[in-house]
Amino acid sequence: MKQILVLNSGSSSIKYELFDMDSAGPLESGLVERIGEDESCLKQSFPASTSTPPSRSIDVSVPDHQQGMELIRRALSENASFAGGRHLVGIGHRAVHGGETYSGPTLIDDRVIETMKQLVPLAPLHHPANLIGMEVARSAFPDVPQVAVFDTAFHQTLPAFAYRYAVPQDWYRRFGLRRYGFHGTSHAYVAKQVARHLKRPLADVNTIVFHLGNGASATAIRGGVSVDTSMGLTPLEGLVMGTRCGDLDPAILIQMGKQSGMSLDQMDEVLNKQSGLKGLCGANDMREVLAKESAGDEAAALAVEIFVYRIKKYLGAYHAVLGRLDAVAFTAGIGEHSHEIRARSCSDLESLGIAIDAARNTSVEPPICEIQTSESRVKVVVVSTDEEFEIAEQTLACVQNAGN
Ligand code: AMP
Repeated sequence: MKQILVLNSGSSSIKYELFDMDSAGPLESGLVERIGEDESCLKQSFPASTSTPPSRSIDVSVPDHQQGMELIRRALSENASFAGGRHLVGIGHRAVHGGETYSGPTLIDDRVIETMKQLVPLAPLHHPANLIGMEVARSAFPDVPQVAVFDTAFHQTLPAFAYRYAVPQDWYRRFGLRRYGFHGTSHAYVAKQVARHLKRPLADVNTIVFHLGNGASATAIRGGVSVDTSMGLTPLEGLVMGTRCGDLDPAILIQMGKQSGMSLDQMDEVLNKQSGLKGLCGANDMREVLAKESAGDEAAALAVEIFVYRIKKYLGAYHAVLGRLDAVAFTAGIGEHSHEIRARSCSDLESLGIAIDAARNTSVEPPICEIQTSESRVKVVVVSTDEEFEIAEQTLACVQNAGN
């Protein structure tokens, strides 16, 4: 039996999921949240097949990540399937930014930690928390190989003409300003699932994946290889998101700086946290936005229109990038659950060979389901993403490669 533990460390939380890699199934998942606050808490979930109740929540004091990791280690050791860690062959860490240094899963050692520290300026909010997670996990499980799986790695295959911005070369050379792309683990996972579902080799399938969650991105994938993606230097670029603006004329920042007197930090906050759907209509949760639209709210109706229009523009652009398109895939909260958004994003695209069947679209069965009409040349597929499992698979592959 081989088990992999997946960790996702944020500034005040650590999420974990333990997988049995032989059955490809989860054994336990959970999170420690509000680390460093007065009322921290450990939440655990178990598969329905076990004798344990499906979930439980314990209020505890967790002053720092070290204690949070210790709590997770103790919680796992109470799980009989964990068997005292005897089957644990690796720990996979979700890492937000690998810069140009990391294009695949990487075995963590002191040198990797040092290199990752140098990448902090590229993701100043997330990277320090990722690093703390790695350091505390290495001290809690000193004998278990640990692997960093970077959200940007899948997009390191982008050609220079797709990743460079048309700004002075010096900005790229000195400051690393280029498109990196994010959500790579999800895009990679979904592309593989689509090829498997279509019973075709990954190398033969061209897919556009729309990861539509609170954060949203699109990726053009040729034969399993990312060739363009909508997020850029940061996750702010591209599609309209829950609270992020997506594509913007950069002069807006200059204009607003001059006219409103807002500082750069204030503008950063507005564009990341007060824009997107929230900025347009006051709600960032798509369910709420759609409900407002149904109730006649004009701002919500416009927000949805802008959201789907941006998706459609990327769909057209990436169709042109790929030339031959085999599949369009929708994933994440909105992509998996909102038939309205899928239908509206793909409306009037018959000339591109894309047409959704209304009945199939409203009766989607997870984890993967085709929703195109019988005339549609392109498959339209709804896929349940599983970033944690993808991290676990990449971690296992990396640990096994290192052992050979
Ligand atoms: P995620 O970041 O993948 O968890 O996705 C969160 C987004 O999914 C939120 O905007 C939710 O409103 C949206 N979402 C979840 N379920 C639905 C649904 N049934 N219809 C529309 N949006 C949904």
